Amino acid sequence: MNELPKIPLAGVIGSPIAHSRSPLLHEYWLRRYGLPGYYIPMDIAHTDLAEAIRLLPKMGFVGVNVTIPHKETMLTLADLVTDRAALIGAANTLIFRQDGKIHADNTDGYGFMENLRQRAPYWEPSAGPAAVIGAGGAARAVVASLIEAGVPEIRLSNRTRARADALRSDFGNKVTVFEWVQAANMMEDAVTVVNTTALGMAGKPEFRVPLDALSPHAVVNDLVYNPLQTGFLRRAAEIGCTTVDGLGMLLHQAAPAFERWFGVRPEIDDETRRVVLS
Ligand code: NAP
Repeated sequence: MNELPKIPLAGVIGSPIAHSRSPLLHEYWLRRYGLPGYYIPMDIAHTDLAEAIRLLPKMGFVGVNVTIPHKETMLTLADLVTDRAALIGAANTLIFRQDGKIHADNTDGYGFMENLRQRAPYWEPSAGPAAVIGAGGAARAVVASLIEAGVPEIRLSNRTRARADALRSDFGNKVTVFEWVQAANMMEDAVTVVNTTALGMAGKPEFRVPLDALSPHAVVNDLVYNPLQTGFLRRAAEIGCTTVDGLGMLLHQAAPAFERWFGVRPEIDDETRRVVLS
């Protein structure tokens, strides 16, 4: 009797997970490229995490995305961790290898950079300082990729100063920390400005840092994608800046994982954005 081929499974693990847009995106790509496979959201408690990630490959999973609150813990559970995931201090992508080893990577920085390059093609990272607001997990991915792209100076401000100081000590002296109350001063001459905080997200307070010093030549990116047009981006657009929303980062960080799991590099176009927003 002929054995039927195994259907590859992938998914996203976190808790809560119902809000995740990743299943919409990966299922769309599977259908678009006519590939066999499924992508499943899984709410896994922290206490079950170690057991779950060893069981998933046995159930046919080729890998998973990892989201809050498991991104940091995953570094201690994986067998292999890429340098960039170690530097960022978090993993968002796992690959379950044929030899049984679990490989952890972080594609957030890649997603951030591809989004900026696609939406602001004339952006020149080495042309001047970058201002980064926030010092959480996403900020670490952003700072790592800005340094890699050749940004000469990164000004950083976070409500909790200690987190910004920790980031500076991990990433070195290209990073300068500003007091939270002086975050507006970071905008002076900045050619790249990124909000990596949750401020401006639906249900969260508005991002209120004054933008008087912001140059109309700056490229301004908000990692928040719900809403797509945040108050911060609206204010920056009024000044004349090129603005980039956070949806593209979500799409681009997913593409390398999809390729590793299912063997096709997916295209990110307006139709992909429409599907994820629907
Ligand atoms: P995180 O590690 O929990 O960090 C949250 C950040 O937001 C910290 O800097 C935190 O400051 C700041 N913050 C939260 N509430 C604040 C408030 N009321 N006032 C001032 N600062 C506040 O989360 P994360 O993973 O870095 O994610 C941060 C944001 O980026 C979220 O909105 C997330 O949806 C978004 N994100 C988007 C993408 C994408 O693909 N577009 C990817 C990753 C993340 P403290 O340190 O002082 O708490």
